Amino acid sequence: MEAATHPARTIQLGRFRITALRDASFALDGGAMFGVVPRPLWQRLTPVNDDHTIPLSTTPFLIEDDQHKIIIEPGLGRRWNDKQRAMFHIDHADGHELVASLGQAGVEPDEVTHCLMSHCHWDHIGAACGADGRPVFARAQHWTPRSEREACLNPDHLRRASYRREDLAPIEEAGLLQTFCGEVEVLPGVSMVELDGHSDGVSLILIRGGAGAGETACFWSDVVPTRNHVHLPFIMAYDMNAAASFAQRSQWIPRAAQEGWVALLYHDPVTPIGRICKGAKRFEWAPRLD
Ligand SMILES: [Zn+2]
Repeated sequence: MEAATHPARTIQLGRFRITALRDASFALDGGAMFGVVPRPLWQRLTPVNDDHTIPLSTTPFLIEDDQHKIIIEPGLGRRWNDKQRAMFHIDHADGHELVASLGQAGVEPDEVTHCLMSHCHWDHIGAACGADGRPVFARAQHWTPRSEREACLNPDHLRRASYRREDLAPIEEAGLLQTFCGEVEVLPGVSMVELDGHSDGVSLILIRGGAGAGETACFWSDVVPTRNHVHLPFIMAYDMNAAASFAQRSQWIPRAAQEGWVALLYHDPVTPIGRICKGAKRFEWAPRLD
């Protein structure tokens, strides 16, 4: 019966097939991941490493229909030195690498038509350029909010630790970068909605495979990074503006629960695909879609 309890990594959503790929496992400070939530509350939810970090993953998603192969959030990639690898526990073992994972799904990098980047933090877009520093998806339109382009290419003191210019500049120089403000429909059924709070322009990515119930999916990026962040006040200390994050989450999480959206989680190491449900007291995570 293991197959029945194993979290889904591929689903059909109307005309789109959605696959959770693998980029890396890594770890960030548990306290920072849960902001003002006291450790006695969050340490019940997740394993904790000796250095107080908690295990996370970077999970890119592949969205396919007859004509398009779309990558959502390429991943943190391999351009890291030993010190950084150790500090963030970056691990690409077991085929956890974007291009290899894509290959297992039967897709070559040159076939990718779109690469959607919710925001430009290093753990989200580092894999968009390869070891040679050049774009991996050489034929793809790359989309990110204009505010994120500005933050990444010209970071100020506050933003410097979260962005690397070399993650984005080669994409722009290759003529592959497109930006938007507010909201954009990248192709029919796939749109990006710019929010703020976590970063200047972190965006949700909505996939509408059809008009039926359960045929909408939302990629939550760092608005809901893991299944343990669906409770509205569980906001990361990394967020630049926690009040804005709370306001955005209070708007989008109830809507997702009410309309039965499939949730795609980028940083959850256990269940990348599930649903957000309204429980008796708070919003909860349902790892199964049935
Ligand atoms: Zn981020």
